[in-house]
Amino acid sequence: MHDVVVAGGGPVGLFLATELALGGCSVLVLERDEEVTSPWKELPLGLRGLSAGSAEVFYRRGLLEAVINASHADPAKVGAPADAVDAPAPRDVSHFAGMGLDAADIDMTALPFRLPSPAMEGFMTSLAAVTSVLNERAIALGVDLRRGAPVTAVTQDDQCVTVTAGGGQEHQARLLVGCDGGRSTVRGLAGFDFVGTEPLFTGYVAQVAFADPGQLQLGFNPTPHGMYLRTPFEGHLGMMDFDGGTFDRSQPLTREHLQDVLRRITGTDVALTEVHRASSFTDRAMQVTTYRKGRVLLAGDAAHIHSPLGGQGLNLGVGDAANLGWKLASTVHGTAPEGLLDTYTNERHPVGAAVLDWSRAQVATMKPGPNAPALRQLVNQLLSTTDGTTFAYRQTTGLFNRYDLNSPHPLVGTSAPDFHFEDGTRLGDLLRQGHGVLLDFRGDQALLRAVKTRQDHIQYATGQARDDLGFTAVLVRPDGVVAWAGGEDLDLEAFEQAATMWFGAPRN
Ligand SMILES: Cc1cc2nc3c(=O)[nH]c(=O)nc-3n(C[C@H](O)[C@H](O)[C@H](O)COP(=O)(O)OP(=O)(O)OC[C@H]3O[C@@H](n4cnc5c(N)ncnc54)[C@H](O)[C@@H]3O)c2cc1C
Repeated sequence: MHDVVVAGGGPVGLFLATELALGGCSVLVLERDEEVTSPWKELPLGLRGLSAGSAEVFYRRGLLEAVINASHADPAKVGAPADAVDAPAPRDVSHFAGMGLDAADIDMTALPFRLPSPAMEGFMTSLAAVTSVLNERAIALGVDLRRGAPVTAVTQDDQCVTVTAGGGQEHQARLLVGCDGGRSTVRGLAGFDFVGTEPLFTGYVAQVAFADPGQLQLGFNPTPHGMYLRTPFEGHLGMMDFDGGTFDRSQPLTREHLQDVLRRITGTDVALTEVHRASSFTDRAMQVTTYRKGRVLLAGDAAHIHSPLGGQGLNLGVGDAANLGWKLASTVHGTAPEGLLDTYTNERHPVGAAVLDWSRAQVATMKPGPNAPALRQLVNQLLSTTDGTTFAYRQTTGLFNRYDLNSPHPLVGTSAPDFHFEDGTRLGDLLRQGHGVLLDFRGDQALLRAVKTRQDHIQYATGQARDDLGFTAVLVRPDGVVAWAGGEDLDLEAFEQAATMWFGAPRN
């Protein structure tokens, strides 16, 4: 019997598997597809924007450099000008409903408690790059990864969960996490409620050849009928057709249909000579009402779907996995404080709901109609202000989520700044093994004694801080979230409470 079965070896399932393995769990990943990557994951169709928040998550596990390196594309292979792909392009604030946001307009002084780190910016990557790096890491950490193994049945009782995969093989585990994407089988089999709003548009992403590409502009182009997107990658086309989401997505996507949609949206007579690959999506925005049902949990697209506008789904899923991994590991080892696993839904559901609303607001702003240009203009004007851009950055970058951890302290519940000690050690380095970290900038003996009682779970690090943000000590969870912060007068009782809440009562 494994500790945890992860259904789905996409980016979220693989990252979660690495987190669990780091936490000392035996992990089985059951993935439907035979191959790690495919043309859908490679550039240009697999183009994805990683936020600074996701970059930070990968940095803290020593994965960032590998993901950045894997994100460099070979221009000859992907049909884009060399300068468009020779380095992962920065992706700070991306866009809102196709309206570009300028990173230069962000007021950094309105965003307190950030310190320079290797993960200051998001960047463009591909699903293939992220998945390949995580696949390799999962194997290196001893994850049992089985491909060509779609999950078809799930049952649970008070002892374990039984998962049936391809060929009828049964696997038992203490816990199952469904990371099997937007059409999650696990979600359906385990009976999760999936609620939200129905679509207004059908979207298309395609790799095509045009007879006369000069008729189409690069970038996001709103039109009276929807929006089209052309990226620097040759023949890479996106379209949003406000048809009420009525296109029957089970039918094959023909060149004639795409041609028709393209001409209607662009108002041109541009000709599609060939369609190499095409798929469709919608802006249906749904989320499960809880992320856990007994021994079954969900993460990533299995827990929430929304339109890809503004590129947040992958980032949201990476955040889910970072939040869940160490909590599951602690539960498996029997060291989890009461209720730890329930904090997963409590913390991640509101973050997911906010992303769904952000995507709905973009759809509402894009929806064609007589009043649409006025609304777009107004939103554009607001977002072009320093406050507007800063607000959008705060909403989308993933660095400024604040979980409600029952503390009025402004740092508690946020992602910790990348504190540096004078000797050059950074918090990001200390988090690599997936333990909690106590940063003690004054070498306080009482704190040292308190942390020794939990030394299996909290790593103690002391030294002079390079940047004085006014804290004398900071307790950081394994996912990099601040659990407690001390000022001039150390409140040891509050420290004990926080340490017990996340790491359990003192043990040794
Ligand atoms: C056009 C487009 C552009 C996007 N751009 C961005 C972007 O810029 N930034 C961003 O953050 N997000 C973006 N997204 C969203 C992002 O791709 C998804 O949110 C992300 O891939 C979700 O990861 P996941 O691992 O949860 O699910 P998936 O990537 O869907 O992976 C699920 C895995 O589960 C497997 N699986 C499915 N069923 C089973 C089963 N029954 N048993 C076992 N395995 C199964 C699948 O084969 C797959 O490997 C975009 C999406 C689209 C469509």
